[in-house]
Amino acid sequence: MKNNHPIDAEIQQYALLRNECNAEIINHIDHCATCKLKVEQYQLLFSGIEALDAPQFDFDLTRAVMTQLPAPKSKHEQFIPVIIFLVIAAVGCPVFYVFGKTFLQILSNLKGILSGIIFLTAIVLFTFLYIDQVRSYKNRINKLNLN
Ligand SMILES: [Zn+2]
Repeated sequence: MKNNHPIDAEIQQYALLRNECNAEIINHIDHCATCKLKVEQYQLLFSGIEALDAPQFDFDLTRAVMTQLPAPKSKHEQFIPVIIFLVIAAVGCPVFYVFGKTFLQILSNLKGILSGIIFLTAIVLFTFLYIDQVRSYKNRINKLNLN
């Protein structure tokens, strides 16, 4: 017989699933009044927990959660980037066709450093504008979701 009492986890396992316990633990608990009392207390506690009703709310939980979820994108919203791209292509292609040679001549006449600075400035400006647009969009969506 084990001199030390089993730990609480082993006593709980005995209270719930006696057959799955170690034979040494079963033997100890069967012969130890202190551990038997603990087992009875745990069994009483477990049966009390099982007898509890599921928590009830005085409001419609499903509706409260569903109103917080973002609405799924409509079919029209999914095509907005494609439409923007088509509009830019429809405007840009004729402009480039008409003024393309002139534009390329201007670019080829510029010194390499100057065109590099212009290109780099355009990329940096585009990046900051894009980040600002995304940030303001997320802020507006968050405000909508909280209200
Ligand atoms: Zn014991």
